Amino acid sequence: MKKYYVLLLLAACCVRCSEKKPVDRMNDEQLHALANDLAQKFIITDGHVDLPYWLKDRNFVPNKETLDTMVHANKANMDFVRAKKGGLDAPFMSIYIPSEYQKQTDYGKSLVDSLVNTVEAIANGLPDEFALAKTPAEVEANTKNGKISLPMGMENGAPIGMDLKNVKYFYDRGIRYITLTHSKNNQIGDSSGDTAKWNGLSPFGKEVVKEMNRVGIMVDISHVADSTFYQVMKLTNVPCIASHSSCRHFAPTVRRDMTDDMIRKLGENKGVICVNFFTGFIDSTVANYMSQSRKEIEGLLKEKKLTFKDSMGQKLASNYRKEHPMPTVDIARVADHIDHIKNLIGIDHVAFGSDFDGVDNMLPQDLTDVSMYPNLIYTLLKRGYSEEDIEKICYKNVWRVWNKVEEVAHAAQ
Ligand SMILES: [Zn+2]
Repeated sequence: MKKYYVLLLLAACCVRCSEKKPVDRMNDEQLHALANDLAQKFIITDGHVDLPYWLKDRNFVPNKETLDTMVHANKANMDFVRAKKGGLDAPFMSIYIPSEYQKQTDYGKSLVDSLVNTVEAIANGLPDEFALAKTPAEVEANTKNGKISLPMGMENGAPIGMDLKNVKYFYDRGIRYITLTHSKNNQIGDSSGDTAKWNGLSPFGKEVVKEMNRVGIMVDISHVADSTFYQVMKLTNVPCIASHSSCRHFAPTVRRDMTDDMIRKLGENKGVICVNFFTGFIDSTVANYMSQSRKEIEGLLKEKKLTFKDSMGQKLASNYRKEHPMPTVDIARVADHIDHIKNLIGIDHVAFGSDFDGVDNMLPQDLTDVSMYPNLIYTLLKRGYSEEDIEKICYKNVWRVWNKVEEVAHAAQ
């Protein structure tokens, strides 16, 4: 009798083994099918999607008609239908505060409120499609109900102003990470896009990092100057994220990308780098094209006494770009960044941080909107990434940091 059961078990096991063909023996079609399955099976989170500001730029006012575009828009990189197709479950909505708002009397705080209101209006107006999420557990519950979660991160800490109480205020509004600076220095510290003012964090910025640890908001080191990054690493008592950064190894002139040494440091911190897809950050040919073409267009405008604001000036710039098309970048380049981080510090520290809707569609081929995460998963499978590796990249690495930050904050309170 016992023998009979053993035979049955063996037979069942063999059926399962033969169903699950090893990845290296799969043909292209089978690999694509597996990539699609994994995208649907695993939660996918993306560290940075700029949809709220993209909507603001287009004077979005939530009503029946405009909300409908959130389900199937044609121009944004993200809408419900394409997110579902791509398996995207939890895109962090970027609450982006451009540097010029730092000069306003409220340092951009009212813009934060207005962008958060927009995200809330989408979730409330389309309750079958979207939902807010303030913890990984809430994302998981939403995903089970077929909804796309809209967690939020604030890009630029300037709206904290000079009042530490605002950190808790933003937490209460649902903000779960704050990018300390955008591309200009602010009262918190130095940005990679500016000349040094504080040589890292300001004295107030050091208090902000501690307060974010205390309240339970993830510290996002994308955009900051190297000096700011190293000081954050010394100061923080929890892991940090880079919500949308890439490796300077592949684009040495891009100061907002991370050096190998910074990547190693973030690994020691047990943090995670969400890799940016913007072609200007991930490939030096595009980075060089951008700086070279800007110089040449500015020269031509000067010669003709025009500016970017004149319609003639805009025409000149667009003609230049037609005559000198931007180099294209293959999706493999994004996988190169993931490989590079994995080789430096291991699979536990890398994730997706597309920057969709914030980069004027300068995106790699086959990775031009939220329906295309399976193409990237396919590329990773081809390079030998296991399902377990891919699960970590899709969400587990970010979840580890997010849960840890919440846990430490709750324990301290
Ligand atoms: Zn950014």
